[in-house]
Amino acid sequence: MRIGRQAAAELEQQYPLSPDAGLRARLTAIGERIAARSARPGLPYTFKVLRVREVNAISLPGGFIYATEGLMRFVESDDELAFVLGHEIGHVAARHHVQLLERHFFLALVAQLLFGGDPTAAQVAAIVRFFVQRGFSREFEFEADRLAVAYTHRAGFDASAGLGFMRRLRVAEGRDPSQFEVLFRTHPGLTDRIDRVRRELRQLGYDVGATGHPRHAPGRRPARRPAAPRGQVPRPVAA
Ligand SMILES: [Zn+2]
Repeated sequence: MRIGRQAAAELEQQYPLSPDAGLRARLTAIGERIAARSARPGLPYTFKVLRVREVNAISLPGGFIYATEGLMRFVESDDELAFVLGHEIGHVAARHHVQLLERHFFLALVAQLLFGGDPTAAQVAAIVRFFVQRGFSREFEFEADRLAVAYTHRAGFDASAGLGFMRRLRVAEGRDPSQFEVLFRTHPGLTDRIDRVRRELRQLGYDVGATGHPRHAPGRRPARRPAAPRGQVPRPVAA
Protein backbone atom coordinates (compact mmCIF):
# COMPACT_ATOMS: atom_id res chain seq x y z
CA MET A 1 0.00 0.00 0.00
CA ARG A 2 1.60 3.20 -1.19
CA ILE A 3 0.14 5.26 1.64
CA GLY A 4 2.37 3.28 4.03
CA ARG A 5 5.55 4.47 2.29
CA GLN A 6 4.31 8.04 2.22
CA ALA A 7 3.27 7.96 5.86
CA ALA A 8 6.67 6.49 6.79
CA ALA A 9 8.48 9.30 4.95
CA GLU A 10 6.32 11.86 6.74
CA LEU A 11 6.93 10.26 10.15
CA GLU A 12 10.70 10.24 9.56
CA GLN A 13 10.57 13.93 8.73
CA GLN A 14 8.96 14.63 12.08
CA TYR A 15 11.10 12.26 14.14
CA PRO A 16 14.76 11.72 13.25
CA LEU A 17 16.10 8.17 12.93
CA SER A 18 18.57 6.90 15.50
CA PRO A 19 22.16 6.92 14.20
CA ASP A 20 22.83 3.71 16.16
CA ALA A 21 22.96 0.94 13.54
CA GLY A 22 23.31 -1.71 16.25
CA LEU A 23 19.90 -0.84 17.68
CA ARG A 24 18.27 -1.18 14.29
CA ALA A 25 20.02 -4.50 13.60
CA ARG A 26 18.72 -5.92 16.88
CA LEU A 27 15.20 -4.65 16.22
CA THR A 28 15.20 -6.06 12.68
CA ALA A 29 16.54 -9.49 13.69
CA ILE A 30 13.81 -9.97 16.29
CA GLY A 31 11.12 -8.34 14.17
CA GLU A 32 11.77 -10.54 11.14
CA ARG A 33 11.66 -13.67 13.26
CA ILE A 34 8.21 -12.70 14.54
CA ALA A 35 6.90 -11.42 11.22
CA ALA A 36 7.72 -14.83 9.71
CA ARG A 37 5.32 -16.39 12.25
CA SER A 38 2.56 -13.81 11.74
CA ALA A 39 -0.61 -14.06 9.67
CA ARG A 40 1.06 -11.95 6.94
CA PRO A 41 4.60 -13.31 6.67
CA GLY A 42 4.97 -12.17 3.06
CA LEU A 43 4.78 -8.42 3.74
CA PRO A 44 8.05 -6.53 3.31
CA TYR A 45 8.31 -5.36 6.92
CA THR A 46 10.65 -2.48 7.73
CA PHE A 47 12.00 -1.93 11.24
CA LYS A 48 13.59 1.36 12.31
CA VAL A 49 14.57 3.11 15.53
CA LEU A 50 13.54 6.72 16.15
CA ARG A 51 15.71 9.12 18.10
CA VAL A 52 12.98 9.74 20.65
CA ARG A 53 13.32 9.56 24.43
CA GLU A 54 9.75 8.46 25.16
CA VAL A 55 9.16 4.73 25.50
CA ASN A 56 7.04 3.92 22.48
CA ALA A 57 6.52 1.85 19.37
CA ILE A 58 4.35 2.61 16.37
CA SER A 59 3.29 0.88 13.20
CA LEU A 60 2.06 2.31 9.93
CA PRO A 61 0.17 0.62 7.09
CA GLY A 62 2.25 -1.62 4.87
CA GLY A 63 4.51 -3.11 7.56
CA PHE A 64 6.49 -0.02 8.66
CA ILE A 65 7.35 -0.53 12.32
CA TYR A 66 9.23 1.88 14.58
CA ALA A 67 10.63 1.65 18.10
CA THR A 68 12.02 4.62 20.00
CA GLU A 69 15.48 4.74 21.53
CA GLY A 70 13.64 5.09 24.83
CA LEU A 71 11.95 1.73 24.26
CA MET A 72 15.20 0.05 23.20
CA ARG A 73 16.73 1.16 26.51
CA PHE A 74 13.67 0.24 28.56
CA VAL A 75 13.34 -3.42 27.48
CA GLU A 76 15.36 -5.82 29.61
CA SER A 77 15.54 -8.75 27.19
CA ASP A 78 15.02 -9.84 23.60
CA ASP A 79 11.82 -11.55 24.79
CA GLU A 80 10.39 -8.23 25.99
CA LEU A 81 11.32 -6.51 22.75
CA ALA A 82 9.76 -9.45 20.89
CA PHE A 83 6.47 -8.86 22.71
CA VAL A 84 6.39 -5.19 21.74
CA LEU A 85 7.20 -6.07 18.12
CA GLY A 86 4.61 -8.85 18.19
CA HIS A 87 2.03 -6.26 19.24
CA GLU A 88 2.89 -3.90 16.38
CA ILE A 89 3.13 -6.74 13.84
CA GLY A 90 -0.25 -7.87 15.20
CA HIS A 91 -1.76 -4.48 14.28
CA VAL A 92 -0.36 -4.87 10.76
CA ALA A 93 -1.30 -8.53 10.31
CA ALA A 94 -4.87 -7.92 11.50
CA ARG A 95 -5.15 -4.96 9.09
CA HIS A 96 -6.02 -2.55 11.87
CA HIS A 97 -4.56 0.42 9.98
CA VAL A 98 -6.81 0.05 6.98
CA GLN A 99 -9.86 -0.48 9.19
CA LEU A 100 -8.99 2.61 11.20
CA LEU A 101 -8.55 4.69 8.06
CA GLU A 102 -11.89 3.48 6.78
CA ARG A 103 -13.62 4.33 10.03
CA HIS A 104 -12.17 7.77 10.53
CA PHE A 105 -11.40 9.21 7.15
CA PHE A 106 -13.68 9.89 4.29
CA LEU A 107 -14.40 6.73 2.40
CA ALA A 108 -13.55 8.50 -0.82
CA LEU A 109 -10.01 9.15 0.43
CA VAL A 110 -9.55 5.53 1.46
CA ALA A 111 -10.84 4.27 -1.87
CA GLN A 112 -8.48 6.68 -3.62
CA LEU A 113 -5.55 5.35 -1.56
CA LEU A 114 -6.41 1.70 -2.00
CA PHE A 115 -6.63 2.04 -5.75
CA GLY A 116 -3.25 3.69 -6.00
CA GLY A 117 -4.22 7.34 -6.07
CA ASP A 118 -1.88 9.88 -4.53
CA PRO A 119 -3.02 11.60 -1.36
CA THR A 120 -2.06 15.22 -0.87
CA ALA A 121 0.73 16.12 1.57
CA ALA A 122 -1.90 17.43 3.98
CA GLN A 123 -3.78 14.12 3.85
CA VAL A 124 -0.62 12.14 4.56
CA ALA A 125 0.24 14.44 7.48
CA ALA A 126 -3.27 14.03 8.89
CA ILE A 127 -3.02 10.24 8.66
CA VAL A 128 0.36 10.14 10.42
CA ARG A 129 -0.91 12.50 13.12
CA PHE A 130 -3.86 10.19 13.59
CA PHE A 131 -1.74 7.07 14.07
CA VAL A 132 0.74 8.82 16.36
CA GLN A 133 -1.74 10.67 18.55
CA ARG A 134 -4.98 8.73 18.59
CA GLY A 135 -4.03 5.15 17.96
CA PHE A 136 -6.43 2.23 17.80
CA SER A 137 -9.57 1.28 19.68
CA ARG A 138 -9.32 -0.74 22.90
CA GLU A 139 -10.63 -3.75 21.03
CA PHE A 140 -7.79 -3.54 18.49
CA GLU A 141 -5.20 -3.04 21.24
CA PHE A 142 -6.36 -6.14 23.06
CA GLU A 143 -6.30 -8.09 19.82
CA ALA A 144 -2.73 -6.90 19.14
CA ASP A 145 -1.69 -8.10 22.62
CA ARG A 146 -3.31 -11.47 21.95
CA LEU A 147 -1.46 -11.77 18.64
CA ALA A 148 1.79 -10.68 20.33
CA VAL A 149 1.48 -13.61 22.72
CA ALA A 150 0.73 -16.05 19.88
CA TYR A 151 3.45 -14.83 17.50
CA THR A 152 6.23 -14.57 20.09
CA HIS A 153 5.42 -18.03 21.40
CA ARG A 154 5.44 -19.51 17.90
CA ALA A 155 8.72 -17.78 17.11
CA GLY A 156 10.33 -19.44 20.12
CA PHE A 157 10.47 -16.45 22.49
CA ASP A 158 9.27 -16.47 26.08
CA ALA A 159 5.83 -14.97 25.49
CA SER A 160 5.36 -14.29 29.20
CA ALA A 161 8.05 -11.57 29.04
CA GLY A 162 5.30 -9.16 27.98
CA LEU A 163 3.87 -9.38 31.50
CA GLY A 164 7.07 -8.20 33.14
CA PHE A 165 7.43 -5.47 30.53
CA MET A 166 3.92 -4.12 31.17
CA ARG A 167 4.30 -4.33 34.94
CA ARG A 168 7.49 -2.28 34.78
CA LEU A 169 5.77 0.20 32.47
CA ARG A 170 2.98 0.58 35.00
CA VAL A 171 5.48 1.36 37.77
CA ALA A 172 7.55 3.70 35.59
CA GLU A 173 4.44 5.52 34.44
CA GLY A 174 3.79 6.61 38.02
CA ARG A 175 7.36 7.83 38.39
CA ASP A 176 7.83 9.85 35.22
CA PRO A 177 4.68 10.10 33.08
CA SER A 178 6.35 12.43 30.54
CA GLN A 179 8.55 9.57 29.35
CA PHE A 180 5.55 7.49 28.40
CA GLU A 181 3.11 10.09 27.23
CA VAL A 182 2.10 8.75 23.87
CA LEU A 183 2.15 5.08 24.77
CA PHE A 184 -0.26 5.68 27.59
CA ARG A 185 -2.53 8.06 25.82
CA THR A 186 -3.10 5.69 22.92
CA HIS A 187 -3.36 2.36 24.74
CA PRO A 188 -5.90 0.93 27.19
CA GLY A 189 -5.02 0.69 30.89
CA LEU A 190 -2.12 -1.62 31.59
CA THR A 191 -3.94 -3.49 34.35
CA ASP A 192 -6.61 -4.61 31.87
CA ARG A 193 -3.96 -5.56 29.32
CA ILE A 194 -1.93 -7.52 31.87
CA ASP A 195 -5.00 -9.50 32.96
CA ARG A 196 -5.88 -10.44 29.41
CA VAL A 197 -2.31 -11.33 28.44
CA ARG A 198 -2.04 -13.54 31.51
CA ARG A 199 -5.18 -15.41 30.42
CA GLU A 200 -3.73 -15.95 26.93
CA LEU A 201 -0.48 -17.22 28.40
CA ARG A 202 -2.28 -19.68 30.66
CA GLN A 203 -4.08 -21.13 27.65
CA LEU A 204 -0.70 -21.76 26.03
CA GLY A 205 0.49 -23.58 29.14
CA TYR A 206 2.58 -20.86 30.79
CA ASP A 207 2.63 -20.94 34.57
CA VAL A 208 1.72 -17.32 35.31
CA GLY A 209 -0.45 -17.78 38.39
CA ALA A 210 -4.16 -18.45 38.61
CA THR A 211 -5.21 -15.17 40.22
CA GLY A 212 -5.17 -11.63 38.98
CA HIS A 213 -1.95 -11.05 40.93
CA PRO A 214 1.57 -12.00 39.98
CA ARG A 215 2.71 -15.12 41.77
CA HIS A 216 6.25 -13.86 42.04
CA ALA A 217 7.59 -10.42 42.66
CA PRO A 218 8.27 -8.93 39.21
CA GLY A 219 11.76 -9.61 38.07
CA ARG A 220 12.53 -12.19 40.77
CA ARG A 221 11.73 -15.40 38.96
CA PRO A 222 10.58 -15.72 35.36
CA ALA A 223 7.30 -17.49 34.67
CA ARG A 224 7.75 -21.09 33.63
CA ARG A 225 7.96 -21.36 29.90
CA PRO A 226 6.33 -24.28 28.11
CA ALA A 227 8.00 -26.09 25.27
CA ALA A 228 7.76 -24.39 21.88
CA PRO A 229 5.10 -25.79 19.55
CA ARG A 230 5.96 -28.99 17.75
CA GLY A 231 8.49 -28.70 15.00
CA GLN A 232 9.81 -25.36 16.22
CA VAL A 233 13.06 -25.20 18.08
CA PRO A 234 13.75 -21.94 19.94
CA ARG A 235 16.83 -20.33 18.46
CA PRO A 236 19.11 -17.79 20.04
CA VAL A 237 18.54 -14.30 18.74
CA ALA A 238 21.20 -12.56 16.75
CA ALA A 239 21.60 -9.29 18.63
ZN1 LIG B 1 -1.12 -0.93 19.94
